[in-house]
Amino acid sequence: MEVKTSLLDNMIGVGDMVLLEPLSEDSFIDNLRKRFDHNEIYTYIGSVVISINPYRSLPIYTPDKVEEYRNRNFYELSPHIYALADEAYRSLRDQDKDQCILITGESGAGKTEASKLVMSYVAAVCGKGQEVNKVKEQLLQSNPVLEAFGNAKTVRNDNSSRFGKYMDIEFDFKGDPLGGVISNYLLEKSRVVKQPRGERNFHVFYQLLSGASDDTLKKLKLERDFSKYNYLSLDSAAVNGLDDAANFRTVRNAMQIVGFMEDEMQSVLELVAAVLKLGNIEFKPESRCNGTDESRVKDKNDLKEMCELLGIEQSVLERAFSYRTVEAKMEKVSTTLNVSQAYYARDALAKNLYSRLFSWLVTRINESIKAKTRHKVMGVLDIYGFEIFEDNSFEQFIINYCNEKLQQIFIELTLREEQEEYVREGIEWTNIEYFNNAVICDLIENNQNGILAMLDEECLRPGTVTDETFLDKLNTVCAEHQHFESRLSKNSKFLTDHSLPHNCFRIQHYAGKVLYRVEGFMDKNNDLLYRDLSQAMYKANHSLIKQLFPEGNPAKVNLKRPPTAGFQFRASVGTLMKTCIQSPRQKSLPHFHRLFWSVIKRVPGLMETEGERAGYAFRQTYEPCLERYKMLCKRTWPHWRGPAREGVEVLMTDLQVPPEEFSYGRSKIFIRNPRTLFFLEERRKQC
Ligand code: ADP
Ligand code: MG
Repeated sequence: MEVKTSLLDNMIGVGDMVLLEPLSEDSFIDNLRKRFDHNEIYTYIGSVVISINPYRSLPIYTPDKVEEYRNRNFYELSPHIYALADEAYRSLRDQDKDQCILITGESGAGKTEASKLVMSYVAAVCGKGQEVNKVKEQLLQSNPVLEAFGNAKTVRNDNSSRFGKYMDIEFDFKGDPLGGVISNYLLEKSRVVKQPRGERNFHVFYQLLSGASDDTLKKLKLERDFSKYNYLSLDSAAVNGLDDAANFRTVRNAMQIVGFMEDEMQSVLELVAAVLKLGNIEFKPESRCNGTDESRVKDKNDLKEMCELLGIEQSVLERAFSYRTVEAKMEKVSTTLNVSQAYYARDALAKNLYSRLFSWLVTRINESIKAKTRHKVMGVLDIYGFEIFEDNSFEQFIINYCNEKLQQIFIELTLREEQEEYVREGIEWTNIEYFNNAVICDLIENNQNGILAMLDEECLRPGTVTDETFLDKLNTVCAEHQHFESRLSKNSKFLTDHSLPHNCFRIQHYAGKVLYRVEGFMDKNNDLLYRDLSQAMYKANHSLIKQLFPEGNPAKVNLKRPPTAGFQFRASVGTLMKTCIQSPRQKSLPHFHRLFWSVIKRVPGLMETEGERAGYAFRQTYEPCLERYKMLCKRTWPHWRGPAREGVEVLMTDLQVPPEEFSYGRSKIFIRNPRTLFFLEERRKQC
């Protein structure tokens, strides 16, 4: 591990934050800014890569750059995401260890771009050959497909991922890629029926309407005009710099490469069209003799066309928008739906159609790309980043919970690694105090009185339950809990104060305070789809739709409630955490890539660097250290005959480096303060 002078160049800031002197929040940000001004968007904190989104294309991802970083050590060149990808790939190939790259950061920070850079780097440096190239192409082309269906324009990012993704790239023993497996996490399906102001629905809707041929649109019974569709927001339909029509062709092409058949693609587009049609179905009240209103479909044309697209009998679906059957104790009771219940049913159907289509796409892609055997894997996690909006709902709550969990892994693993290395090397260390976010995770996920558990409990409780009753419960339980907690620590993360707006609760996340509005929490967690609708879908004469609604099979009536959205998410986050932390013996520690949205913002995670500084800023194995500095001492120059460690000891003695500044480990020297390193480097320059 050689110290490249570029890492120490003060003009452009230091490449590794552990070399920063003095280390404070200000100097940290100052260093990032200095580097950013010199187009250096990457900086290390030890083995963690951090980066700042440049929002413009920099000439640092060329094939030449790939060659430059290939097979080089982390510290030899200036910091780059390629260095991290290279290190991960080489330890997979040469040390036979599974790898995992975790990318975190706020929305818009550049996570998805970074994950693609990692993939394309690995694709560029691993084996070649016809079969291997086909695999690579399929893996890379899965991206545009999933982005079309799972990304949307938000106020923070024109191409914001609205789902979480973990992709395992599978390799053989030579390090050639064999395939991949994608896991997806909770798509933000509420977006299908409603988008926040200034945001769009998922890209695919706009792409289809802009890019499909007249003939295709005719077959799908669609018009090109966005404004014809209730589910498409109009205020931001066209996005600068986004060419929906061209992207439609890219996506079709990508689907072909990944292995979708022509008829499968057609089915997928029919479903997308059906969702648009569904959004246009409207309802009107019809008075009944008992004085109540019953919902009726207003204009049946959209209903008719949707049913034609999906091979559904119109009367069955129409009935499902007016009545719902409740099954209880072997009895079926039919109740009527009023207009608002009919709209609710319609939107629930649209959200389910779309999100199930999305999951099907992931499964289908996996069928194509999954390897039959595999030797080692490299996992890349690109999950939605931390979100703090003006209006935060269930989706933000779930997303932020996931980020909180990632932060927990980050803290545990980086600090644990540090401390384990000291133990391995026989270096004395004092336990590092650090900000531990376990309290926040517990507040959310605790089985008994965590927020998600309470939400589930409230969703299942008989009687009148509303978002407000849920909030009441939360306030009561968390306040009690807090009372108990506060005696143990002053770290309560459920913030109650009198300035809280109506219907809100506030959580102190690691990245900041977030105010959540409870409206819709119960509903989104319940994620109810009336059985009449799933049965109507199951009866469809359309192989894909039928497949998506297996619970609509009357032969398989299951009275058990499906798991709630929160429950499912908690379970999949649990699995993800296990994958990331699993058996350290077979696996490298995760590689972290943290991204910051802008330099100006407070930088969460600074606490970790304080942690590192409490230990040793720099360490190096004896041989390269002696090699680099032997010129500074007559007794070691030009050749030292003897063990490298003794040579380094002689060096440090002759140079009169104060003994408290460093420690000798079993295989490495540990230097406490960057000052010492600068001193050695300066002396070298003078030689
Ligand atoms: P996130 O996934 O963290 O929400 P993205 O990866 O989608 O963010 O990045 C948002 C936008 O920022 C991208 O669409 C791209 O325009 C720009 N961007 C991100 N990373 C880079 C980069 N390394 N170089 C140039 N532009 C970038
Ligand atoms: Mg993203």
